[in-house]
Amino acid sequence: MGYVFGPVPSRRLGQSLGIDPVPLKTCNWNCVYCQLGRSKPLIDHRAEYISTQNIIAQLQNALHFHKPGEIDWITFVGSGETTLHINLGSMLEQVKSMTNIPVAVITNGSLLYLPEVRNDLSLADAVMPSLDAGSAHLYKNINRPHPHLDYEEFIDGLVRFRQQYHGKFWIEVMLIKGLNDTLQALREIANRMQLIKPDEIHLLLPTRPPAESWVKPSEETNVRMAQLILGNNVKVFHSQKGSFGLGGTDSVFQAVIAIITRHPMKESELLEALKHYPQEKIDEVMNALRESGEAQIVERYGERYWSASPSQYAAAVANEEK
Ligand code: SF4
Repeated sequence: MGYVFGPVPSRRLGQSLGIDPVPLKTCNWNCVYCQLGRSKPLIDHRAEYISTQNIIAQLQNALHFHKPGEIDWITFVGSGETTLHINLGSMLEQVKSMTNIPVAVITNGSLLYLPEVRNDLSLADAVMPSLDAGSAHLYKNINRPHPHLDYEEFIDGLVRFRQQYHGKFWIEVMLIKGLNDTLQALREIANRMQLIKPDEIHLLLPTRPPAESWVKPSEETNVRMAQLILGNNVKVFHSQKGSFGLGGTDSVFQAVIAIITRHPMKESELLEALKHYPQEKIDEVMNALRESGEAQIVERYGERYWSASPSQYAAAVANEEK
C-alpha cells in the first residue's frame, strides 16, 4: 500500500503531495461530513500504525520522481487523524531535513490538549485544525467525537497551541446547511475563534461524498453571513480544480487506489487524470476498479464518486456498474 500519494489538487495548498500516516478511518472523530465514510470503531490512542521507516522511504522515492515545481506543499493528511501516529514529530523532522518544500499538517486538532502533540506539530510550516462547532452540543452532533474527548479541553488545546506556534495557523470550518450555519451557531464559533486567534479562518463546504447522505453544503447567503460574523481573516474555499498525479508508482491502478482511499474522486476527475494513458490502459484500470473489490461508487450531489471500498457511507451504491 502506498502511504505517499498524489500530488492532488488542494483547495488551500495548490498541488499537494500527501503523506497518510494512519490506516483508513483511524480516527477519534466520526464527522457527519467525512468524505471517507463513517469511523467504526472510534480510535483514540497514539501508536505507530504504519512503519515510520516505510513512510519516509516512500517519500524519498516520490520526491525523486517529481520534478521541482510539481509539488507546492507536502501535507500530512489522509484517511484518518494524523496526530494519532505517535512518531509524527520525528517524521516532520525527517521531512524538513530532506526538502525545502513547505510541510503542512491537516488535523482535527482534538489532541492538541496534549503537550507532546503540540510539540510534534510545532515543526510544521502550517497546521490546519478544524473547528466546526462553538458549543459542546454541536461538537457532538457534527464531529461525533470519541467519548473520552471533552469539548472545553479541545478548545483549550487550540488556544495553547496558538500561543506557542509560530507557523501558519489556519482553522477550517466546514459549513453544513442547517447545522452550524445559523446566526446563533456562527456567533458561538466566532466567540471561540476570538479566544484562539488563528491567522486565518477557512470556510469550506462539503463537496466530496459525505458519510451521511443528508449533509448538504450551506447556501450562499449563509456563507456570506459566516464571512461577516467570523471577521476579517476569513477566506472561503470552493472545490478545487486541478490535476491528480498518478505517477511515482509501478501500477496506475494502485496509484488510483492510493488517492481514492484518502480523497474520493469524481468519475470525471478520474478520467481526466487517466487521459494521458493509451485507451487500453484506461480500460484496464477502469475494469480493475469495477472488478477488484477495492473500489466503490458513491453518489452524492448528483455526481458519481470513486472511493475505496472499505469506506462505509450511508446508502452507498457499491460497485454499481457490476
Ligand atoms: S473528517 Fe477527518 S476528523 Fe472527521 S471523521 Fe473524517 S478523518 Fe476523522
